[in-house]
Amino acid sequence: MTLAPALFVSHGSPMFALEPGLLGPNLQALGRELDGARAIVVVSPHWQTRGVRVTGTAAPGTIHDFGGFPQPLYALRYQPPGDPALAVDITGLLQAAGFDARVDPGRGLDHGAWVPLRYLRADADIPVVQVSLPIDADAATALRLGEALAPLRARGVVVVASGSLTHNLYEFGRGVRDPDYAQEFADWVADAVARRDVDALLDYRARAPHAARAHPTEEHFLPLLVALGASGDAEPGTLVRGGMTHGVLSMDSFAFGRKAA
Ligand code: ZN
Repeated sequence: MTLAPALFVSHGSPMFALEPGLLGPNLQALGRELDGARAIVVVSPHWQTRGVRVTGTAAPGTIHDFGGFPQPLYALRYQPPGDPALAVDITGLLQAAGFDARVDPGRGLDHGAWVPLRYLRADADIPVVQVSLPIDADAATALRLGEALAPLRARGVVVVASGSLTHNLYEFGRGVRDPDYAQEFADWVADAVARRDVDALLDYRARAPHAARAHPTEEHFLPLLVALGASGDAEPGTLVRGGMTHGVLSMDSFAFGRKAA
């Protein structure tokens, strides 16, 4: 693999692990293109830290960081190898880019990481290193984080940034079904990604329709900027269809640098 892809994957809610919907099979197909990858570096909004932290364990555990969901979710495991040497390299790249980056020797994978990775690589045969999202990150910081990770792709390391294209959990929790506004937001983002309009995506909260409703808080959108930052100017993102789940959660995802696209 010459240049590994950079991906933005939606994980919606933890229920995605039990309900593959449209995105599950599409991620499985995408995952088959990752044969030969050296490692996966995954960023998830469910690990936010001061500065940036990088998992350094050789055997990351499965963290069930959610409450009140069906019991079968808590029995799921995803146990790929880690890559301690790569974790040190990643920390160096992040420090060179100006981040306060350190290895966390004990931390495992949160559900934002392992739920989509179970679809991408069910066999857990590619080592995984997770990178946290800085707790004070804005869109520009997320883009810069992705830019810092970009050189890894030439070493066969896939960048997986996990979030959710829309993520109003208040509405999700109350059973609100209003897919039209969520789709309008998702379509705006897909158009901006296809045109690689980085300025518009950085300014999405002012420019995108229903931005504050689609993302009452920003952390599930920011991974898209991470994937964008990890991708090159000549790599427009291709849409990986995820459909709309639970009436308000868009599961659409994007692949940058996908060979088969
Ligand atoms: Zn989440």
